[in-house]
Amino acid sequence: MRITALRATPVAVPYRTDEVWAFGRRAGLVSVLLEMETDEGVTGLGEAAAYPSADVVLSVLRGLEPLVVGADPLRVEALIQRIDVVGTWHHVGHSSPAIAAVETACWDILGKVSGQPLVNLFGGRFRDRVEYFHYVAAASPEGVRDEGRRAAEAGARVCYLKIGADELATDIDRVAALREGAGPEMGVRVDPNEAWSPGAALRALRALREYDLELVEQPVSGRNLPEMAYVRGRSDVPLLANEASWTRADQLAVLQHGAADAISVDHQMDGGLLNMKRSAGMCAAAGLPVVKHSLGELGVALAAGLHVIAATPNFRCANQAYGALLTDDVVIGAFGGPAANYRDGCLEVPDGPGLGVTLDADKVARYAELYRSGAAEYTFHDPEALRTAPALPKR
Ligand SMILES: [Mg+2]
Repeated sequence: MRITALRATPVAVPYRTDEVWAFGRRAGLVSVLLEMETDEGVTGLGEAAAYPSADVVLSVLRGLEPLVVGADPLRVEALIQRIDVVGTWHHVGHSSPAIAAVETACWDILGKVSGQPLVNLFGGRFRDRVEYFHYVAAASPEGVRDEGRRAAEAGARVCYLKIGADELATDIDRVAALREGAGPEMGVRVDPNEAWSPGAALRALRALREYDLELVEQPVSGRNLPEMAYVRGRSDVPLLANEASWTRADQLAVLQHGAADAISVDHQMDGGLLNMKRSAGMCAAAGLPVVKHSLGELGVALAAGLHVIAATPNFRCANQAYGALLTDDVVIGAFGGPAANYRDGCLEVPDGPGLGVTLDADKVARYAELYRSGAAEYTFHDPEALRTAPALPKR
């Protein structure tokens, strides 16, 4: 079998409420959908987050084409080595989402050809349902409290709230409101996205301790692991590495520094699903759980991660997804969004061969048009944030 063409389509899907974080504000998300065509008529699906922009993803995909077109999609390892070693794309960073989309499409083809859902190619079902957190958008304390209540009523077990974009007192009010609305049983996870210096982080962790946080994600810079270990050593609130754990090499360094209690992993951040499985194995050997991170994704990338999570034991915590924010999705059944598709915070592992999801052509057309006409509000580049928060740490 040979890959004959890559077809990339940027789409923009609105959120029902803005996502606000330490780096700015987004009114929706942009993803680049990838259709990989073959000479045997089987098409594989992939998806790349527009991180840092759809133009970068499209440019990387064009750059990969000479390495990918003509290759056998069933030889996934060989193709990725060809991209990394022959193509010198191995310093993954902003090239990673596009590479992951290519790799995902190969797995989708492999699953379709073998008649198996991806979960069966990655170890089989360790779990039948995968748990995700309910993403509570940072808003007024009243808004946060109401959303926490809605999450609890919907059966979610973990809520996630971005903090770090405002004064600590404002963040404390939001966390208190979330705890009040969601109730004592809810896991409350917060993510300051590196906004704090070590001293500010310790002050914040002390102040937030009474709200019984499940995890605090990346409180300080992800590029200074002794600093993370310093904070971890002075607080009993469990820390989740994220910006510090982009790639397998980063994750190994986090483990070596004892800098976190749990490790974020993401196929879009480190070149594909095989690498995410490797990441989980490395962290399992160190006795740590992993959490699937997301840059914001639709049903194709969500399904890709879900299959591997379902086949991998140490994804023990609720994972990141955007169902609570998304108004819609581009796959049939709107698999990844909106929130109504989640039962008790969980998604079922799709049964069909490969990823088990199919693009909804009408929705792809609609959201591709939205990307062309109004994607400025959906990018990672919030012009307002340039005025208010041009440097890290912010506190
Ligand atoms: Mg994060």
